[in-house]
Amino acid sequence: MPRFLIQTFGCQMNAHDSARMSEVLVRSGFEEATEVADADLIIFNTCSVREHAEQKLRSEAGKLAPEKKRRPDLVVAVAGCVAQQEGDALLRSMPLVDLVIGPDNASELPELYHQQTQGAPPVARTVFDVDAPRFLAATSALQLSSGAHAAPTSAYVTTMKGCDERCSFCVVPYTRGPERYRPSTEILDEIDALVRAGTKEVTLLGQTVDSYRDDALPAVTGDDPDESQFPALLRAIAAHVPGLARLRYTSPHPRHLVPSLIAAHGDLPLLARHVHMPVQSGSDRMLKRMIRRYTRAEYVARVRALVHAVPGLTLSTDVIVGFPGETEDDFKATLSLVSEVGFTSLFGFKYSPRPHTPALKLADDVTPETKAERLARLFEVIDGQQRRHLDSRVGQTARVLIENDSKAQRQAEGPTVSGRTEHNEIVHVARPVGKRIIGEIVTCTITAAFKHSLSGLMDASALGKLVDGDDVRSAPRKRSLRLSPVV
Ligand code: SF4
Repeated sequence: MPRFLIQTFGCQMNAHDSARMSEVLVRSGFEEATEVADADLIIFNTCSVREHAEQKLRSEAGKLAPEKKRRPDLVVAVAGCVAQQEGDALLRSMPLVDLVIGPDNASELPELYHQQTQGAPPVARTVFDVDAPRFLAATSALQLSSGAHAAPTSAYVTTMKGCDERCSFCVVPYTRGPERYRPSTEILDEIDALVRAGTKEVTLLGQTVDSYRDDALPAVTGDDPDESQFPALLRAIAAHVPGLARLRYTSPHPRHLVPSLIAAHGDLPLLARHVHMPVQSGSDRMLKRMIRRYTRAEYVARVRALVHAVPGLTLSTDVIVGFPGETEDDFKATLSLVSEVGFTSLFGFKYSPRPHTPALKLADDVTPETKAERLARLFEVIDGQQRRHLDSRVGQTARVLIENDSKAQRQAEGPTVSGRTEHNEIVHVARPVGKRIIGEIVTCTITAAFKHSLSGLMDASALGKLVDGDDVRSAPRKRSLRLSPVV
């Protein structure tokens, strides 16, 4: 039985793809290895959104050279965005690589592996499935596994792939192809299966998740007829999977934050009271150069309408600093936008030129020192906002979906578990002795705020509802604060 090992770089979208790749291999009789020395197939699932991730691939793959020399029959594959971006060129620039496989070709992995073991030459398969899009479902993993607790507490579900936007800094339209939407019936079935197996929270995944379309869904009234049917999808999930406790999505584009989506947030308690809405810059001049297709005023008006519909809703965002031509005034406009909107967290990045992007035509004229200095100033502003927000939560109650055991540093006062609130805040709670708590939503009173998280005391009534026994769930998925996959 061949054994495989997958190393994932980049965002949750890639982590999700790695999980699907792993399922494809297990269904074909492969077994997951834990060590390089035990693996017959090593897959690097790559990201090319940032230069850093691409460099990391080359350095990690380089470390494999001695192993490949010792075991020439070891098959080394590169999957994901770098694979799609580089194709055959990767086989030439990295001679230890045997297989290059694009995001839409993951289901071909077992066959391609077997061909390699029979002496086939190195090969690149990077064909978009534009005519007949395929989406690998997580439900097959549930069918493969045994036990009632196989499903993660919080799971990702793919709704679409590709992107039709052309943000000038972004390589995703090149590496992931045009937008293709998964049929809503498949999405509903997958969420239903996950919930039946124990999942409590689902995050819908898509490069521009709110541009989702499926004509099988009811038309949305009141919007532009060309507007997406994402709000209808949210309503369908709420109606068809009543056992789902919480629904999130990532990453939306502000263009589709339209009245019908805002109304869905107002109507559906299932939707988390936190939205990650990438803005990238607070300067209209930069937004235009980035080809984001909204102005600062439009962005602000839309998120304000959302917060008006759902009082207390919190927002996070993505920001790029040092985009070509960004002046100090442009950057100050970003800082003022961050304060004006009151984001509770953000992901900030220094611009780096990516291959095949329109921004390559612009001179990368902001120095590395200035980019670093602006990023530090941006983090100073958001750290202050996040700290004030977390402090304001002390004394309030919160519903926390417990996901895992806390890290050691939070365990000084005894074993602790942690989870997330509807606002995406991390809360640490003392682990009740002899009770099953992972995967439960518990009501807590927030007792303390730390730099990036909170501490809570479980209400007596919540404690009383927990079932006796030990937690038997499999390890929760690896997850960071970041919900945005691509920008
Ligand atoms: S930043 Fe997002 S919306 Fe823009 S091109 Fe990239 S994936 Fe598409």
